[in-house]
Amino acid sequence: TYIVTDACIRCKFTDCVEVCPVDCFYEGENMLVIHPDECIDCGVCEPECPIEAIKPDTEDDADGKWLALNSKYATVWPNI
Ligand code: SF4
Repeated sequence: TYIVTDACIRCKFTDCVEVCPVDCFYEGENMLVIHPDECIDCGVCEPECPIEAIKPDTEDDADGKWLALNSKYATVWPNI
């Protein structure tokens, strides 16, 4: 799965959301998250992010912190 990291906080771009074929982005007050069970791993959102906040969970998330956060908030924040 792909995950959104803290670089997203207060970013106002939603280019990633527009390209996602399965609409698996969810939005909170300050950032977006990806629902790990809905993401089909296509990777099209990653290059669309102007601040490189989106990564595969195999990269830069060795302790699983961001995967856990995306997973948690994707179930409580509204789909965007
Ligand atoms: Fe959506 Fe594909 Fe990005 Fe997953 S990798 S969030 S399915 S655009």
